[in-house]
Amino acid sequence: MLQGSIVTIGEILIEIMATTRGQGFREAQPLVGPFPSGAPAIFIDQVGKLGHPAAIVSAVGDDDFGFLNLDRLRRDGVDVSAVAIHAGAATGSAFVRYRPDGGNRDFVFNMRDSAAGRIGATPEAHAVLATAGHLHVMGSGLPVPAVFNMVRNALPAIKARGGTVSFDPNMRKEILERADGKAAFDMVLAAADYFLPSGEELQLVTGEADESRAVAKLLAAGVREIVLKRGATGASHFDRNGRTDAPGFAVDEIDPTGAGDSFGAAFIVCRLMGKSPAEALRYANAAGARTVTVQGPMEGTSTFAELDAFMARAANGAQA
Ligand code: ATP
Ligand code: MG
Repeated sequence: MLQGSIVTIGEILIEIMATTRGQGFREAQPLVGPFPSGAPAIFIDQVGKLGHPAAIVSAVGDDDFGFLNLDRLRRDGVDVSAVAIHAGAATGSAFVRYRPDGGNRDFVFNMRDSAAGRIGATPEAHAVLATAGHLHVMGSGLPVPAVFNMVRNALPAIKARGGTVSFDPNMRKEILERADGKAAFDMVLAAADYFLPSGEELQLVTGEADESRAVAKLLAAGVREIVLKRGATGASHFDRNGRTDAPGFAVDEIDPTGAGDSFGAAFIVCRLMGKSPAEALRYANAAGARTVTVQGPMEGTSTFAELDAFMARAANGAQA
């Protein structure tokens, strides 16, 4: 298998969270943050922490929010040479508040008009993509034309040199309902070795309500491995050899944001290291579980030593 870094393209944000539950932000309220964030950034931070070569193509403003993110990614081993710093632009941000019922959340995003909306195909981006052995595509970034174009160009180049591709749809159904959104999505899916949907995304993507029929459709279309994230209950892996289920680890959930991204990173790193799907699932479940126990989307990413210690405690029956 091709050795090379894992590269992703997409938004770097800071996240500011309401400390109380309620309906959005139409009143003054206590907040906590800024936390480093952005789904691709969380993913690549987790890759870096696991010691695998990692790089992100992105953009920040020349402000504290940008430096906070760059410092964190650098500290955790991520190559940020292809993160452009746009003078005068603000780093992207997301404000999030959980609804009283717990599951749903309200967001105020500043993305399109931020530095994150100006990600471009710079010479540094080309250099990083040229050394990639694996490209992780985040569906949420595809509506940005420059991101989509870079992905479209990178896919055949990476595959031609023996590299691999993973795809986390991380996608709202509004995007799929647009004709160009669906076409972009289908193009990435056709190139994906690893497809990492969660919840109803499997159904949205395939148009099949039945899980096994949806999986069969994707395998027939050429997706090599499908990993279905099932929140607290764990995850399942499907390939031509069949199905493997792995239960979630019992933890107290403080903040679920980022679980899917650190899960995906741990799974991909393990597979690229040659670990079996079952072993990769276990590490990925542990990475996801650790993420939800800490406030802030990137605060709970893990090293292999932390994952091994966590899994050993869980094996002894302790709530981790
Ligand atoms: P995200 O909010 O980051 O988009 P997602 O919807 O992509 O998340 P989830 O299924 O919510 O993905 O979480 C990913 C993985 O994290 C799960 O498969 C599981 O391994 C772990 N996980 C998530 N929530 C919990 C929890 N409450 N307890 C234990 N493990 C969890
Ligand atoms: Mg997700």
